[in-house]
Amino acid sequence: MDGSITILRVFGIPIRVHYSWLIVFGLITWDLAFRYFPEAYPSLSPPAAIVTGILATVLLFSSILLHELSHSLVALRSHVPISSITLFIFGGVARMDEEPHGPGEELAIAAAGPLTSFVLSFVFHLIHLSDLSAFLWVKALSRYLAFVNLFLGLLNLLPGFPLDGGRIVRAVLWYFFKDLRRATKYASRLGQGVALLFAVGGVWHLFLRHFLEGVWLLFLGWFLDQAARTGYRQILAREALGALKVRDIMTPLVDTIPADTSLDEAADRYFLPLRHKWLPVMDENLVTGLVALSDLRKVEKSLWSEKKIRDVMTPISRVVCAAPDESAYEILGRMAAWGVGLIPILSEGMVVGVVTRGDLSRVLQVRGD
Ligand SMILES: [Zn+2]
Repeated sequence: MDGSITILRVFGIPIRVHYSWLIVFGLITWDLAFRYFPEAYPSLSPPAAIVTGILATVLLFSSILLHELSHSLVALRSHVPISSITLFIFGGVARMDEEPHGPGEELAIAAAGPLTSFVLSFVFHLIHLSDLSAFLWVKALSRYLAFVNLFLGLLNLLPGFPLDGGRIVRAVLWYFFKDLRRATKYASRLGQGVALLFAVGGVWHLFLRHFLEGVWLLFLGWFLDQAARTGYRQILAREALGALKVRDIMTPLVDTIPADTSLDEAADRYFLPLRHKWLPVMDENLVTGLVALSDLRKVEKSLWSEKKIRDVMTPISRVVCAAPDESAYEILGRMAAWGVGLIPILSEGMVVGVVTRGDLSRVLQVRGD
């Protein structure tokens, strides 16, 4: 997902936070510290309410992370690679690079999350009933987290793909149809239906002047709708790209630029006449980096005669690359995962071509329906 940053890695999986979460993190902390806890526990002192609010938000965040990690661990056990986990508002997305290999695996991966949320809810409920509840803030915190984890588990069980419940529906349809595409089609329609219900609920709350709930539901509905459409498009893309290899769809590229070319010369002799937006950089017969027209523009014009291409290029080690015999569908996933619009194709240390988003959408237009 675009608009997110990596905050840590667990089992080698990058945990990313979507900017929407940062906003909601603040809102939830504020709401808990200044409204919910003081109202529910009037004897809690204001500083204690603030600390409890922050703790509750952090533990909520951790609960969602555990929910997503449980999906990921079951997926990894079934050899379905997970490229990242992204947290956003009331949930997270464990980004699977491939679809599960069968309905049984899909069911296990999908069910693991809500199950984890229910277990967490139970554990916090036990803490709430224990002697620890003599501390008012523990009592408040555990009650809130028991409730919120129960809510998370139930929310995710709603039958709209790509929510966990929708994935369970897809697994069942997949089992009966023996056709992942048809199963995804119906599951994502159901997802769009659930999204619409969220949106209607959101408008209703706005009408009742429950602004936070209203905006939250509208946002959730919008997000779910997008996700349901994307999920189905991914399946279509996979079918359309089918057995195609990168070499079948790439634009072959033969032009290169020497690393010691000055920026002046690069503009006049390479970028202008060749009309490329970027070029592989050659240093003693090896590709050492990539330089884009936009890299040149970052340097002040007066320095263009003394600066060399090697000073402004991106080293090849930091470029997302692919090989000619990789599958075209994987490249689509890699572009989305890294948020790049162009991937150079390397073979034996040489750039032999490039695949752009344009190349992929052309193939999808020709071969998709
Ligand atoms: Zn889940």
